Amino acid sequence: MQVVVIGGGVIGVCTAYFLAEAGHEVVLIERQGNVAEQASFGNAGIVAPAYATPWALPGMPRKFLSYLLKAEAPVLLRPSMEPALWRWLRRWVSECDLQRYRTNRSRMQRIALYSRDVLHQLREHHRFDYEQTRGYLQLFRTERDLALAQPMLGLLTEHGVSHRMLDAATARAIEPGLSVDTPLAGGLHLPEDETGNCSLFTKQLKQAAQSIGVTVHFGSTVTAISAHERHVVLQVEGKEFNADAVVVAAGVDSAQLLAPLGIHVPLYPVKGYSATVNIKDFEQAPMSALMDEAYKVAIARMGSRIRIAGLAELGSRTLELREAALRTLIKVGDDWFPNAANYRGAQFWCGTRPMLPDGPPLLGATPVKNVYLNIGHGPTGWAMAAGSGKLVADIISGRQPDIDMDGLTLARFQH
Ligand SMILES: Cc1cc2nc3c(=O)[nH]c(=O)nc-3n(C[C@H](O)[C@H](O)[C@H](O)COP(=O)(O)OP(=O)(O)OC[C@H]3O[C@@H](n4cnc5c(N)ncnc54)[C@H](O)[C@@H]3O)c2cc1C
Repeated sequence: MQVVVIGGGVIGVCTAYFLAEAGHEVVLIERQGNVAEQASFGNAGIVAPAYATPWALPGMPRKFLSYLLKAEAPVLLRPSMEPALWRWLRRWVSECDLQRYRTNRSRMQRIALYSRDVLHQLREHHRFDYEQTRGYLQLFRTERDLALAQPMLGLLTEHGVSHRMLDAATARAIEPGLSVDTPLAGGLHLPEDETGNCSLFTKQLKQAAQSIGVTVHFGSTVTAISAHERHVVLQVEGKEFNADAVVVAAGVDSAQLLAPLGIHVPLYPVKGYSATVNIKDFEQAPMSALMDEAYKVAIARMGSRIRIAGLAELGSRTLELREAALRTLIKVGDDWFPNAANYRGAQFWCGTRPMLPDGPPLLGATPVKNVYLNIGHGPTGWAMAAGSGKLVADIISGRQPDIDMDGLTLARFQH
């Protein structure tokens, strides 16, 4: 079949690669001048399947309200009149129930664990080096934060995830650059989790995809999709483009492409920020990835640079850099690794996570013939990308997907 993939983020590129590998003629259409220019560009890079968990969790609405009153809160709501925001929030609140959380979480972990295996296979097969490191350390500044982490330990054990609670001295032995001046009550170490440069990986996979026949059109915006019995027609830069099937992998902009087809997905952009700095003293720099639980900000080593990323802003669709958010990132970096870099030279970025209110992404077929989805990966799209691409390619090829697709398709929003 000739299959068009719309969107050259990490999700679209993985999809295009696996479709070509399955023998299809694949065209990737991306409006920017390169792959991984939006959400996949400056993310934190963490691949931690055990932490691929929904933001809709019990007690979160109350916590969310308390954040609204704090100056340095990890979550910010910019009240807007946009109905989509309030619809999304209402649905999100309804998912913050223990039973719903458990269901959503297990769906996300199913795909994230599978995805890690697929990522490893790709890495080994192509000998990719995307600045990957191993190990993920959560930092708890206070005894209270440490206590709040206890329920998570049971879930990690239940899912067979290797982990170790550490006192401050042991945490500092794992990450010797950690400042002794910042109070540290303890840490949680996940030795099998990873980090890597998502944008670098996406560019490497794009090359591999082209080498097996994928055609890439940059600077091309798809403005409309029309579906017919045996084919689809796309409007691209004023011209018609015919194909047998289309996969929408357009990140946060997918909802507006799908709506005219009668496919309504509760996708909403949740903005986040990152700062990237060159390392000046490698002995004082992070060895791998860390998460400051108090600020929900990640610090990751990426080759000779450090990436500090996080924060969540709802209600703003613009990509402006907010000063206070940037200050929080720098504070977290400087608190933990003050001598590793000159934070004044940081390069700042912001992007939007394509978030669904319940958490798991939407993969595979739609009620509209020949139109497929690979969308809604939210805060863990990099961790789920390789697996999602393979699953969607398998579905289009009529192959049995490697994992159970229950709860990962559009069917869950169609009751
Ligand atoms: C601050 C931050 C930190 C994050 N940290 C992590 C992390 O540590 N680990 C993790 O797993 N995930 C993380 N994420 C989430 C992850 O970055 C996203 O889930 C992932 O990048 C989504 O990929 P995507 O391909 O769906 O979207 P995108 O990368 O946004 O790609 C969509 C592409 O579609 C193109 N497009 C859109 N509309 C059209 C159109 N009409 N025609 C043509 N092209 C179109 C866009 O130009 C874009 O290139 C983070 C996100 C943020 C913002």
